[in-house]
Amino acid sequence: MTAVQSCKGCGKLFPFLPRGLCADCIDVREERFQTVREWLRDNRGASIIAACQATGVEERLVAEFIREGRLEFSGPTESAKDLQAREALRAKLVAEMSASQADASTSTSAPRRGMNVRR
Ligand SMILES: [Zn+2]
Repeated sequence: MTAVQSCKGCGKLFPFLPRGLCADCIDVREERFQTVREWLRDNRGASIIAACQATGVEERLVAEFIREGRLEFSGPTESAKDLQAREALRAKLVAEMSASQADASTSTSAPRRGMNVRR
């Protein structure tokens, strides 16, 4: 048996990937996990999308952490507001992508303040 597996993160081939990710990708993933966890410590009950907006970590990855039970998500299920926020985030990413092509010096990386979840 000479089966190789491709890393789910970078796509490189490895002979043995028990977690589906190579060591490099696991490192990057851990860093992002720590980032989200730190942020959640100060922002309990935040929605997933709010965490993504604040930390810059991909929504898909945050969802994986939750599925793995490493992050607890007890916040509200997605509201219309979250869906709006997701659209805004997507639009922002698109805008940043085109902006970074035009002008690499724009600083839009600072987390936005003032977003609140209404209860
Ligand atoms: Zn990898």
